[in-house]
Amino acid sequence: MSALLSVENLSKTFTIRSGLVGPLRTLDALSDVSLSVAPGETLAIVGESGCGKTTLGRCIVKAMPVTAGKVTYRPPDHAPVEITALDNRAMKPWRRDIRMIFQDPMSSLNPNMRVFDIVAEPLRVHKVARGRELENRVADVLSRVGISPDAMGRYPHAFSGGQRQRIGIARALVLEPKLVIADEAVSALDVSIQAQVLNLLEDLKSEFGLTYIFVSHDLGVVNYIADRVVVMYLGHVVENAPTESLFERPRHPYTEVLLEALPIADPTRRNRREKAVRGEIPYLGNRPTGCPFHTRCRHAQDRCRSEKPALRKVGQAEVACHFAESLELKGAYEPASVT
Ligand code: SF4
Repeated sequence: MSALLSVENLSKTFTIRSGLVGPLRTLDALSDVSLSVAPGETLAIVGESGCGKTTLGRCIVKAMPVTAGKVTYRPPDHAPVEITALDNRAMKPWRRDIRMIFQDPMSSLNPNMRVFDIVAEPLRVHKVARGRELENRVADVLSRVGISPDAMGRYPHAFSGGQRQRIGIARALVLEPKLVIADEAVSALDVSIQAQVLNLLEDLKSEFGLTYIFVSHDLGVVNYIADRVVVMYLGHVVENAPTESLFERPRHPYTEVLLEALPIADPTRRNRREKAVRGEIPYLGNRPTGCPFHTRCRHAQDRCRSEKPALRKVGQAEVACHFAESLELKGAYEPASVT
C-alpha cells in the first residue's frame, strides 16, 4: 500500500546570531530525514527535546520552509502532491486534509474567542459551511469529542485542561482531515486525563478514518498509541521500527537508553533510570563528527567517532548504527501503562 505521506531526505537549517552583534551560525535541526506513514497508521516520532521532532512536524504542515528534501502527500482521490513545492495559495486546499493538534491547549486556543468561533474558524476560512450547516457541524464535532454543544458560547478559560484539549481536537477534526499531526498533544495534561484523551484519539481515529503522526517525548504514551515508532537524535532518524519490536528488541543504543528511562513498577531497578540520563545532549551547533550519538553511547568504538552510520534495514527495523546486528540491547521491562 502506498504511503499517505512520505518525507524524503528532509533537512532544515536555522541561521542564528550569537548575542546581539556576534557572528551568524547555522544549526542543522533536521539532517536527511526520511520516513513515511501508511493510511490508517499511527506513527510516533520520539526523542529528547532538541532532537528535531517538532521541527519535522512543522515542516510537514508547511508551518516553516524546508532547506532541502521533499514531503509528498497522496490523497486517496487525487494524484500525489509534493507539498514542499507549493506556495501558500496552492497549499490551502491541502490544509483541510492535514491538520495539527498542539501541545498546550491554553496557548493554542484564542482566549478572546468563544468555543463556537474557535471550532467554526477553519470552516469559515476554507468556506466549507455557513449558517445553520456551520452551526450543526460545530455542534456535531464538539459532541463527538465529549463537549456539550450547550457550552459553545463559553470562553476557553471556563474549561479544564483536558476539556480545552478536546476543543483543540474538535477544531482539528471539524474539516474532516485525512492526516492529523499531534505535537505533544497530551504532555501538558495530568496522567489520568492523558489516558482519557488518548482513548478519545483512538476512538476518533476509527470513527473519522484518520492517520496520525504523534510527536512525543514520552515512550509510555507512544507504546500505548503507536503502530510504529521513529526515534530521532540531533535531527537524525536513528531507528524506525514497529512499536512492539522496538520495545522488545531495540536495535539502536539510543533507543535502549530511552527505554531505560521509562518509569517502572519495581523500585529495585531504580538504578536503570540513573544510567538513562547520563551525558548531556550536545549543542546542535557543535554536532559530533561520525555517529551523532557517539559522545553518549556506551557501545562506541573508534569507527563511530569518524564514520557516520547510514540508516539501513536490520530485522524489522531501519537503524543507523554500525553495530546494530551484533549489539545485544535490552528492551523495556515493563512499559508504563497509561490506562
Ligand atoms: Fe553507538 Fe557507534 Fe552505534 Fe553510534 S554507531 S550508536 S556510537 S555503537
